[in-house]
Amino acid sequence: MTRPLSPRVEAVFWFLLTATGYFLLASLSLYATKGADNIAAVWPPSGYFLALLLLMPSRQRIVAFVAMAGASVGANMIEGVPAAAAAAYTVANTAEAIIALWLVRRHNAGEMSFMAPRAVGRFCIAALIASAASAVIATLLTRNGFDFLLSWMTTVGLGMLIVTPPIVMLARMVGSNALNNASTAMKLEGIALLTIAAFITGASFAQSDFPVTFLPCVAVIVAAYRLGPFGAAAGMLIVAIIASLLTGQGYGPIAAMDQGQKVEVLFLQFYLVTMLFIALPLAALLVVQRRLAKRLEQSNRWLLQAEAAALVGHWRVDLVGWTITWSDQTYRVHGLQPGMPVDVDYSVEQYLPDDRVAVRKALEEAVRSGEPFVFQGRIRRADGEIRYVKSHGSIEKGRRGKAVGIFGTVQDVTDTVENARILESARSAAERIANTDMLTGLPNRRHTLAFLDQALRRAVQDGAPLAVAIFDIDHFKAINDQHGHAAGDEVIRRVGQRAKASLRDDDMVGRYGGEEFVCILQGRSALSAELVAERVRKAVHADAEGVAAGLPAVTVSIGLAIFAGEASIEDLLQRADKALYTAKREGRNRLRMAA
Ligand code: GH3
Ligand code: MG
Ligand code: MG
Repeated sequence: MTRPLSPRVEAVFWFLLTATGYFLLASLSLYATKGADNIAAVWPPSGYFLALLLLMPSRQRIVAFVAMAGASVGANMIEGVPAAAAAAYTVANTAEAIIALWLVRRHNAGEMSFMAPRAVGRFCIAALIASAASAVIATLLTRNGFDFLLSWMTTVGLGMLIVTPPIVMLARMVGSNALNNASTAMKLEGIALLTIAAFITGASFAQSDFPVTFLPCVAVIVAAYRLGPFGAAAGMLIVAIIASLLTGQGYGPIAAMDQGQKVEVLFLQFYLVTMLFIALPLAALLVVQRRLAKRLEQSNRWLLQAEAAALVGHWRVDLVGWTITWSDQTYRVHGLQPGMPVDVDYSVEQYLPDDRVAVRKALEEAVRSGEPFVFQGRIRRADGEIRYVKSHGSIEKGRRGKAVGIFGTVQDVTDTVENARILESARSAAERIANTDMLTGLPNRRHTLAFLDQALRRAVQDGAPLAVAIFDIDHFKAINDQHGHAAGDEVIRRVGQRAKASLRDDDMVGRYGGEEFVCILQGRSALSAELVAERVRKAVHADAEGVAAGLPAVTVSIGLAIFAGEASIEDLLQRADKALYTAKREGRNRLRMAA
């Protein structure tokens, strides 16, 4: 934990840091890199001052401006600049710092970052505008010409562009503990790369036999690639310092051009500007790219985790290259190791032969119609097990609306299919039980009535013939009395069997009550219905087999009603029942037609 400084100590700290730094840099630049018009090639004090302004608390800025003004006038006058010019330069540099600070802070209310391409772009524009303004002010105050203006502008512009970023970034790294968090290997690599950049620049600019002016670019780009924006900025600073110092002293390929000092300084400036505008944005873009790649990798990992948790895989057919890709979970659905090479035909062949044709058809139809599809089929997994899988697919369309791919999901639905099958068989068993009479195995009263209701509706709708016969065992009470209830039950069962055997499949017989049955005869003429009913009666009457098996001989009486446009089954059944009553009354073991 660091204790906050008292305001007075803080003011002294920033005053001294500004004044000494500015003075030393200004003196060094003026001494080392003076151009023909007595202006340095690069003016690092501008960049140094802007960096401090960005880093210091805003309440210290007034103090810093005072320190900077003193250092500027002092350094200029010591180097032999007349007092009036030194004052004019100082005014221009002050105005430039105010403008640059305002422009940079306008869009970055918080901390200025050189990690985002947009922020880097804004910083560059701010530096260029501020240096142009500064150049105009300096030129007007000193009554100089266009050459002076251009030279001033590039000089202070470069000073800000080259010096501000590395100082701000380094200070932020120290402040945010990022340096402590970096691994030793990374720190060593950083030091090594920057040392190599210094060495290459020194070697390139200490000789003039080989035209290797641009060799340091390679070192800066490598530093930018490996170390990010700080690598780019620090590399640039190193190249700028060494190249301008050596060139200023008459060494190196630029000094060797022998084109006069003015051209050499301009060459050096544009050399540095070019390198800067390549390295800084490149490094910032790389940061964005790496962040995107990381995010993409993470979302991909989450997708795969979600697929594994939900047991849903995905696949994609590239219709142009006719290739297929499977997600890890898709491999697992097929019982395969993720990553094994697969192709479209192989994917289709995973289905059982019966389903393959349907799969191909579903895919072709989807490509043709462009509509989404659902497909369910059976696959044979790598371990031989047969599983049900369900795919949802959709078509990906290219620029001209042409299908270029099919994207789909796949899920093992074996458990669902099996559960559905168990449920269905349980449901149909329950339905059978609910509809069947336990004693005879015939449709029970409820089901018989429901069946008759439907038959009546059909008859009403298409006028098809319909007849209903009710039959009742004669003197059944006596059977119960003489032979016992169990024998009575056996008789009821036997009568039901005999009746059923006398009917064809379209006809239906159900147990209507205790020892009463109903025959529903569809599509038969009245005569045919009468014949069938009569056949039932005779079948019961002449049951030699039943008698041989020890059952008492029985007869039935039958009332037959032919459908005559009744609105309800109750009306129809009532007519049949009346006819049955007549049959009983007239002596039993006979059939009577309803009126
Ligand atoms: P009828 O010739 O007039 O039909 O005389 P019936 O004696 O058969 O008279 P009814 O039809 O009214 O007889 C019904 C008897 O059938 C009453 C009841 O004891 C008997 N019964 C009803 N259901 C069953 C059954 O499930 N098992 C047995 N064993 N008897 C039943
Ligand atoms: Mg009865
Ligand atoms: Mg009876």
